[in-house]
Amino acid sequence: MQEESYRHKGLRQKLVASLRKKGITDERALAAMDVVPRHFFLDSAFADLAYDDKALPIEREQTISQPYTVAFQTQLLEVKKRDRILEIGTGSGYQAAILGTMGARVFTVERQEQLYHQAKKLLAEMNFSNIRCYFRDGTKGLPEFAPYDKILVTAGATEVPQALLDQLKIGGWLVIPLGRRSQKMMRIIKKTENEYVEEDWGDFRFVPFIGGTEPE
Ligand code: SAH
Repeated sequence: MQEESYRHKGLRQKLVASLRKKGITDERALAAMDVVPRHFFLDSAFADLAYDDKALPIEREQTISQPYTVAFQTQLLEVKKRDRILEIGTGSGYQAAILGTMGARVFTVERQEQLYHQAKKLLAEMNFSNIRCYFRDGTKGLPEFAPYDKILVTAGATEVPQALLDQLKIGGWLVIPLGRRSQKMMRIIKKTENEYVEEDWGDFRFVPFIGGTEPE
């Protein structure tokens, strides 16, 4: 784990102010982003860039999402304390840490074993007892802890996995970026066992959502 300093704290406050200017209004999401040290989730070579509003590389050719995207997806989730949230695509673990800081019970799955190990270790060192990490293919969800209040996919999918819809509570929703080269941020609300309402929240760009797992 890296060092935390007043300088980092100041940079985070500036980042949060810029997210507010860009239209993020969820004060609880902003408060979480104000306290979680994003530089902990990056290689020390990128620590100085951690509070720019940019996606950055992590291991295995993956990325930590841009802070604006994290804030936007978190806002769409309308996180309530003790919500059961399934995240697909742990990556660095940063998004999970934001949800965990907001008091959600977080289940997060990652298909790259190396990323899974790193994120699990870091989140444990940071004392997140409400975040559980799994090395899994997220196209299948995480059926043993279903149903979830909310499900968040943080990679770009070309279709909505039925397993994720099945693992949602009635009245819950799935936030998923859909599309090939760029993605539409979709929020799919489960009204009844087989009725859904879809909302389109605009264009984003994610690394691809891929089936199967990759061992270390
Ligand atoms: N939420 C992450 C973003 C990481 S990028 C963060 O805050 O850092 C998206 C991640 O989704 C990548 O790590 C990628 O390996 C993972 N991913 C892609 N397809 C997946 C799948 N089918 N199951 C689980 N994880 C997947």
